[in-house]
Amino acid sequence: MSTSRQSSENSPQSHPHADCIFCRIAAGEIPAHVVYEDEQLKAFLDIRPIRPGHVLIIPKTHFSYYDDLPPELASASVHLGQRLGKAMKSLYNVERVAFLFTGTDVAHVHAHVVPMHTKTDITSPVYVEQQDLTFRLAPQAGDDELRETVAALSSCLDHAVANQ
Ligand code: AMP
Ligand code: ZN
Repeated sequence: MSTSRQSSENSPQSHPHADCIFCRIAAGEIPAHVVYEDEQLKAFLDIRPIRPGHVLIIPKTHFSYYDDLPPELASASVHLGQRLGKAMKSLYNVERVAFLFTGTDVAHVHAHVVPMHTKTDITSPVYVEQQDLTFRLAPQAGDDELRETVAALSSCLDHAVANQ
């Protein structure tokens, strides 16, 4: 990275959450497979997708908890989730798309938007009878696969918007 880049507005030093990976994605400092972006939100593919098409929606400003979001930003996030949900239903032929704010690993508000192929795509261990479960990270998806997903989802998102 050049010196002039480091001193620009988007440099890690210029925002208060320089160690937050999603702030850095929001600022374009580190790459992501971006599906949608506007002034206040960015939506990009989760690199460890539960299902192909698994998207994360973030506000570009850092908030640690969804309940701290200003109402208009919360509303914009849900609205984008609805548009993505329509696109995913048509692209992946699923009846239902999950929308969840979690944030146990990355403390920058993000909504997971996941096409649900089965009821257990988004579930809790409390529903499982066997007690000794161990959890792992979902496998990381390859760049080619993620690029193909972005192409399919963004064109479907445009189509879904055109038909609104
Ligand atoms: P959680 O905070 O529990 O919602 O988990 C964070 C999510 O962010 C996980 O699903 C990760 O796979 C995802 N994630 C972490 N780093 C990146 C990244 N650089 N690009 C895309 N997704 C990421
Ligand atoms: Zn952040």
